Amino acid sequence: MRTPLVAGNWKMNGSHELTRDLLTGLEAGLDPADRAEIMVLPPFPYLTLARSLLVDSAIRLGAQDLSTRPDGAFTGDVSAAMLSDCGCSAVLVGHSERRTLHGETDEVVAEKFSAALAAGLLPILCVGETLEQREQGQTEAVVSRQLAAVLQSAGIAALAQAVVAYEPVWAIGTGRTATPLQAQEVHAAIRAQMSAEDATIGGQVRVLYGGSVKADNAAEIFAQQDIDGGLIGGASLSAESFLAIYRAANQSF
Ligand code: PEP
Repeated sequence: MRTPLVAGNWKMNGSHELTRDLLTGLEAGLDPADRAEIMVLPPFPYLTLARSLLVDSAIRLGAQDLSTRPDGAFTGDVSAAMLSDCGCSAVLVGHSERRTLHGETDEVVAEKFSAALAAGLLPILCVGETLEQREQGQTEAVVSRQLAAVLQSAGIAALAQAVVAYEPVWAIGTGRTATPLQAQEVHAAIRAQMSAEDATIGGQVRVLYGGSVKADNAAEIFAQQDIDGGLIGGASLSAESFLAIYRAANQSF
């Protein structure tokens, strides 16, 4: 049984005030009977505040990006060890906004994945196709190439310590979500690719869906066989909507 995970990617949004309000609101809405995992991914400057608010909380803390390097003269970069020192237990790697806006290649993403693992962080590997690639029938090839880059450099055993997030680029922040069946098809292909290398690991790795998940569409997406929760952008900035999505994940067991 894979435990569903709902992770909130705040992207470049927030403030001290929002961090306090949002985390207090989330904390107040948790139920001791909840079995799904919940995680927030604030921007770097708010991680230590978030950590202080989440002491003894069930809400896990993660970051949105990390450097491939451990330390040194890399102005503006943040290492995996620093994230861990700030209370993070997870980090996104290869979010499509990093791939597109910062030119992160599959190779860089694979290096970041390994840097996260080496520091004991859970990497959440984001993969997904653009609209153009989908329309040209390249969805599975693109996602498979992105996953293969990590499989080749880190090995299938490393995936056992990671989470994969399928995020069709055309669905991120657009209000246009993949249908549950469209998402399930790609999730099944991702799992099959991992299972071809190790059936046990392939069956265990959580594969999240991301792309305009909202309170009103989460339940049918999470009900799909190979979908193990979601990576949530916009809807994670309100405690009410993020908790509603989290509720849907709790009901998807
Ligand atoms: C994301 O940023 O990973 C994401 C899925 O965003 P949204 O939910 O806003 O589409």
